[in-house]
Amino acid sequence: MTRLSSDELRLGRLFNGFDYQIQVWVVDGLIRGCAHPATMRSAGVPCCNAYLYAGQPIASVAGAETFPPEMIRRA
Ligand SMILES: [Zn+2]
Repeated sequence: MTRLSSDELRLGRLFNGFDYQIQVWVVDGLIRGCAHPATMRSAGVPCCNAYLYAGQPIASVAGAETFPPEMIRRA
């Protein structure tokens, strides 16, 4: 998988960038919420993972991308 060079990884996890596995943006290790209108959510059903996981550390979410050491660039 090709990654954007702007993605920042820390400790084998995405720190800033887009997680392609669970389809969320990550800023400083935390999942950004979505901007979908409330009308996209029905009772108890989130519109997307960004809404579901908003504000949580990406490292705590099962299924988020992980990166082997050889993929991690030295700063
Ligand atoms: Zn959403």
